Parts: sequence; structure tokens; C-alpha cells
Amino acid sequence: MYERMRSAEAIISEMEARFSDMFEGSDNRDRRARSMNGSPLGITTAPLYRMFDTGLSPKARKSVPARRTQRGRLLALQHRVSSFSRLKWSASIVKDSTEWVTLDDTAFTNTIPGSNRDVTINTVPICSNMTNKEFRRQAMRARDIGVELIKKRIAGLARWDTREQDRVTTFFASADVHAKKVLCEGLPRLLAAMQELEPEKIVRWDSEINRYLSCAITPDSGVNHAAVCKPDSEKRVIAIYSKFCGSPFAQLWGICKVKTIIHECTHFTDTFDSQDHMYLDSEAGAMIFARNKPHQAISNADSIAGYIATFDGVNIAP
Ligand SMILES: [Zn+2]
Repeated sequence: MYERMRSAEAIISEMEARFSDMFEGSDNRDRRARSMNGSPLGITTAPLYRMFDTGLSPKARKSVPARRTQRGRLLALQHRVSSFSRLKWSASIVKDSTEWVTLDDTAFTNTIPGSNRDVTINTVPICSNMTNKEFRRQAMRARDIGVELIKKRIAGLARWDTREQDRVTTFFASADVHAKKVLCEGLPRLLAAMQELEPEKIVRWDSEINRYLSCAITPDSGVNHAAVCKPDSEKRVIAIYSKFCGSPFAQLWGICKVKTIIHECTHFTDTFDSQDHMYLDSEAGAMIFARNKPHQAISNADSIAGYIATFDGVNIAP
């Protein structure tokens, strides 16, 4: 189970708003802390002093407001969380317009008065070249474009005119009964999988969520764009690598984010259960591969993704 949390900044702001009388600057903090000693809450100030462990003299420390440093605010947050052990954050306060991070599911179970528990918050963005909010927006737009492209191929297979047969022949060497059957059965399942994709299931390859997948995600070597665990149809988590972040959004003649997401979804065992026999970026490359390996093309992830989404000269804005 995962707590879907906002960024450290947003969490702290929320905590400050709720407990504003305890998150004042250092001067007020000292006064309030003294007044609170011996109160039914039994709050001590010791953990709060750690936020001023900046190497400054005791006098200088007192002039540094707690909320000026994120480190200080995080420590204060930890203290407040442990002091108010019954406080729980739920998904209901999460707004989609904010950043999301993952916390372990025991982060708020400490019931020992006065004790502290370290909370690890991974604030590393999924892509270093954009905020997580922008990443989610692009990922969902890529999903929506992929969904429309899949619908077009389902309609094409229903028509089964010369044009569609030519397209199937290009990517799978033959528009035979077997190829048509595999596509007719697989595309609706792929469509459903794409429609199930949610932004929080498209994560960094080293995200905490990956610990719960059925396979070990390969570390980011700068070569791969993304990865999934084929049997994880329920979770439908896509692990994103750094190369994905720098790839074009929807330049459909080559590799791009839209095709990467389609590619990954073809791997799930309940869609196409596809393999990576050969990575293929272009229509020409897919055609040559299909002619040379006709039996592999119909189960090759990039051949299927190419059939759906490779179009020369088409570039869709993110
Ligand atoms: Zn693959």
C-alpha cells in the first residue's frame, strides 16, 4: 500500500497551516515551547533544536527562523508527526495539481509519545528536465494519443481494406489469417490496458514502488527508455529511465514517448505478451525485420507499436 503524498514543501506548508502556533520562527518557538512544557500534550522542544544545528553560535541560532530552511522544516515536521501520532494523511487531501512522492506505509504508525521516526521522502523528479506535474501531463497526453491510434487500427482491421492489409504486411511481412487474428484479439486488450494507465503508475526506475513489482527493474544505464514486469497486469507500473525524458514527445516516424508507452503496454501478458526480439525505430527498419524474421515480428514489441503508431512526417505537439 502506498501513501500518495505531496512534495515536502507542500506537506510542510500543510502542517504549518494546521499547527501554526507551533511553527513560528525561533524566537516565538522558544517562548511557546516554554509555555507548553508540562502541558497535557507533553511536547518537548529538544528535537526542534536540531533544526538549528547549522554551526552558528547559540545567539545567532536563535535569530534563524525555523521555516527558512527546508531541512529545518522537515525536522520540525518529523517531530510534529511523531507527537501527533494519531494524525494520518490520506489520499483525500492530495490534489492532482501538486507533486507526488511515495512514503512507506508505516510512516505514521509511531504511537510512542515523544519519540521520533525518520521519514524518507524521495523528492527526485521522474525526469530531471521537467517537473513531475509536467511529466504527468505529458504521460497522460501520450496515453491519450496512443489510445486514439489504437482505435484507428481496430477500425482499420474491421475494414480490412487494401490499405490496412498493406500496413499489416509492412510491419508483419504478411496480412495472413494468423497476423490478423493476433492483432484483432490483442488490440482491444492493449486499448484497455492503456486506458487503465494512471499517472502515479508511471514512475522513476528507482522508485520505492518498484520494490513491489514481480521482477527486478534494470538500473538506468542510459540505453533503455522504460521497463515493465510482464505479469504485473494488475499494477501496470511503467518504470521510466532517463533516456525517455530526453526523447521526442510524438515524432511518430522514430522513437518517441508516445511509442515507448505503447511499446511497454504491449509487453503485459494480458495484452500482446510481446518480446523485444529487435528494437525498431522506423517503418523501413520494421519492414526489413519483418521480411527477415516473419515469425518474430508478430510478437515483437516495436513491430506492434510501429504498426499502431509509426507514421512518416507526423509530429504531434506535447
Ligand atoms: Zn520492450
